[in-house]
Amino acid sequence: MSGFVYSEKPIRIERGEGPYLYTEDGTEYLDVGASYACTPVGHCHPDVVDAVTEEAKDLFYVQASYPVDSRDKLYNRLAAIAPGSIDNVWLCNSGTEANEAALKFARAATGREKIIATKRGFHGRTMGALATTWKKKYKHYYEPLMDGVEFVDYGDVEQLEEAVDEDTAAMIVEPVQGEGGIYPASAEYVKAAREITEEAGAALIADEIQTGLGRTGKMWACEHAGIVPDILTSAKGIASGLPMGATLVQDWVAENHGNHGSTFSGGPVISAAAAATLDVIVEEDLPSHAAEIGEYLAEELGAKIEADEIDARRVRGKGLMLGIEVKRGSNRLVKNLALKEQVLALPAGRTVLRLLPPLTIDKGHADQLLKSIDSVMGGADQ
Ligand SMILES: *Cc1c(COP(=O)(O)O)cnc(C)c1O
Repeated sequence: MSGFVYSEKPIRIERGEGPYLYTEDGTEYLDVGASYACTPVGHCHPDVVDAVTEEAKDLFYVQASYPVDSRDKLYNRLAAIAPGSIDNVWLCNSGTEANEAALKFARAATGREKIIATKRGFHGRTMGALATTWKKKYKHYYEPLMDGVEFVDYGDVEQLEEAVDEDTAAMIVEPVQGEGGIYPASAEYVKAAREITEEAGAALIADEIQTGLGRTGKMWACEHAGIVPDILTSAKGIASGLPMGATLVQDWVAENHGNHGSTFSGGPVISAAAAATLDVIVEEDLPSHAAEIGEYLAEELGAKIEADEIDARRVRGKGLMLGIEVKRGSNRLVKNLALKEQVLALPAGRTVLRLLPPLTIDKGHADQLLKSIDSVMGGADQ
């Protein structure tokens, strides 16, 4: 038997520690993308390992309507970091499920059908979330998908005003588009989205699956615009790479949520991992740290581009969610970084090299990354 969906990379990872991944022969790789924003506190953080180990000895599973300590602890941690008045949470097992629930809750709470999504946006691969995802290449084999989705240009306030009306259940939006190529929305756009949806009685869903948990320099990227969405989704790094998604909702949405459920909703072991992960993020103030290291990286990269030291067009992003735009060949750059420099990065489409390192990286790691980028993207190599 072999897997068939993913093409296998020629690097067999045996273990991870902090920002590094190791092969069996001990080769050390700096992970700035291999774990896809799933390790905000680094690989195998001792506090998370301890929490998981302890909980695994006690309880793997009991149905979610029975209160358990680890889930209660997670609820408390989420309450402490949730933006504004958001005070209800649905736990699930992935990002796409968190968005699937968000769309269902929005439709149930409003009794409306229409969903507004943004061009270039990515919200997951199940049939509902996929319908709100923009790129045809993810969708066309599987149609028909969920009905009722309308796309608008990301950043265009006028189009949004046109699109949102009294039939609109929700607008779903990433405060910084991730898969689409690392495009931060302006604070004005996010504020306008908040006002326009509120005016129309529609829910604003902030998909913070990639941007959340401190990555962009604040706990949640919507905080850069000073707004509180009606629904906020999180996943990826929330349990340090164990599968968990969370849909946080305001009271008015929670009041009439319809009839949703999932066997594994917030299992004890994953909840323990998530609570421990959030503790580290808060205690070490990783959002501020991400802002600082991210700014350093962006400035250094910008200077290199300006001085023609590396062959790239520009650098975009916020905090430790950065994209380096190149003319073409992002996949080749990722490959060269891995094989020549032992740095594992990510593409976002053909023209963006994406960096999503653990938020715990220090200036030394950033310098190692910059040196590797120099060597692979420097004039001589092109
Ligand atoms: C990764 C991602 C998803 C999907 O999460 P999965 O866990 O892969 O289902 C949804 N939205 C955004 C913004 C993402 O980055």
